[in-house]
Amino acid sequence: MSQRVVIIGAGLGGLSAAIHLCTMGYDVEVYEQNPLVGGRANRIETNGFRFDTGPSLINYPWVFEQLFAVTGACMDDYVELLPLDPSVTFFWRNGNQLQLSSDFQYLAEQLSQFDDAAHAKLSAFLSANQERFRFLFDYLVLSNAETIGKWIAPVPKQGLMRLGMFRSLDRELARFFRSESVRAALGSYAMYLGGSPYKLPGTFSILPFGELYYGLWYPRGGIYALVEAIRRRAVEIGVRIFCNSPVRAIRIESNRARSVELEDGTIVAADAVVSNVDVPTTQTMIVGAVPHRQQWTMTPGVITFYWGVRRNIDTAHHHCIFLPSDPRTAYAQLRRRLPDDLPFYICVPSRSDPSVAPAGCSTVFVLVPAPTLSAAGPAFDWDAAIERSRQEVLQRLDMHGIAISPQDIVVEHVWAPHEWRQRFGLYDGSAFGLAHNLWNIGPFRPSNRDRRVARLYYAGASTTPGTGLPMVVLSGAMVAQRIVSDEHSRVR
Ligand SMILES: Cc1cc2nc3c(=O)[nH]c(=O)nc-3n(C[C@H](O)[C@H](O)[C@H](O)COP(=O)(O)OP(=O)(O)OC[C@H]3O[C@@H](n4cnc5c(N)ncnc54)[C@H](O)[C@@H]3O)c2cc1C
Repeated sequence: MSQRVVIIGAGLGGLSAAIHLCTMGYDVEVYEQNPLVGGRANRIETNGFRFDTGPSLINYPWVFEQLFAVTGACMDDYVELLPLDPSVTFFWRNGNQLQLSSDFQYLAEQLSQFDDAAHAKLSAFLSANQERFRFLFDYLVLSNAETIGKWIAPVPKQGLMRLGMFRSLDRELARFFRSESVRAALGSYAMYLGGSPYKLPGTFSILPFGELYYGLWYPRGGIYALVEAIRRRAVEIGVRIFCNSPVRAIRIESNRARSVELEDGTIVAADAVVSNVDVPTTQTMIVGAVPHRQQWTMTPGVITFYWGVRRNIDTAHHHCIFLPSDPRTAYAQLRRRLPDDLPFYICVPSRSDPSVAPAGCSTVFVLVPAPTLSAAGPAFDWDAAIERSRQEVLQRLDMHGIAISPQDIVVEHVWAPHEWRQRFGLYDGSAFGLAHNLWNIGPFRPSNRDRRVARLYYAGASTTPGTGLPMVVLSGAMVAQRIVSDEHSRVR
């Protein structure tokens, strides 16, 4: 009889683990607390407006193609990924704008507004990072190694020295770009990984590189169209998914995960349990063993607005990022409160895909970075923070010619860090999971195999390799390999 694996949570990490395990012959059940699968990549529909709740930028499309391919299917038969080029537009208060693109000539012209010899600098940046990107994926990102020795053993040593691990992302970018504006723009992705380009390892220059070189993608119908396609394929190959089924506890006997207990008291026996819930949150669900007690360094929280606007917003681009005048101060303030000069991101998917809004209307997603719940402290006034964010975002948009009158916002949903925590079990209201500073990557990140409890595994943003949709899909593949190799070593 095939082994039964129970997966807690149907985020993309959980769904990917389910698909990989199912193709390997396991009997797989997924228990999800919410009515819809997708986790942070969820969907709100109100009066004809369709909002993607979290991720809006898709990169590394081959990761999703491979997920379908392991099941013998072709992704194109389920969902269409469209290239978005130009991809992201950055705005500064002084009126400067920078538009990113995968078209070398166009991008170099954009950069030449800020930096001299932009062609040569861009060329050097791309070729250095192409090598780094390949090196990281060939040797480190997909490694299931749990110790530093095993992690770096197969790696050519001269390549290790060129990874930029011991300088910050900002210093790494400064090797190529003198302009502080260009560095602020390309370094702004650090927020998703830990908070600041002045702290994050320079290795993560592969992030802006990946976006420039391989482009940004948009699933026709919205991000949730991709989630739905993955759910559909999982069910077709035999994964059983139970929504509205919160798990209350993971039951341990003789130091081994034996079953999960649902909120309604049902006990589901398992040969192995995979938690797709944040690793620190999972620790609170373990019954029958001593959980890890440690400090977790989390990425920031977010306040997100979902606006249905009763007119076309034709002055905005699909992805726009509004940078503060002094990013260093803004990142430092973000550790405890909202920065004085708010950085924020908006996505207007109806610019590329009218199907996500009623005719003549726009769907707008706004992401304002915020501190985590514990960093802000119990006295922090979240209602005031939401109100201030709403007003400042509208004012700043207006300043850049993207006027949205409050009367035109006919639908609004707002999620602050406590909503994110409550809806998806996100530890401390952190939006992107565990941070990616030097001591939280590779073998220093929580392994996808619990170190104390046998047959308890993890998939998703807080384990290896890290956060972001492609990474959590890869984490699903990695945990499946881990379970198989553990089983083989028990049999031998
Ligand atoms: C606002 C925002 C914007 C983002 N933007 C991007 C982007 O543009 N591009 C990108 O690639 N990434 C982005 N990310 C990051 C990306 O969303 C995450 O890395 C990824 O979705 C995490 O997937 P996951 O599988 O690890 O976990 P999750 O999506 O968190 O899924 C975990 C699942 O477990 C379920 N669960 C929790 N507790 C229980 C329980 N007790 N019982 C049963 N089920 C439970 C939850 O409901 C959830 O469905 C963004 C994230 C946020 C929040």
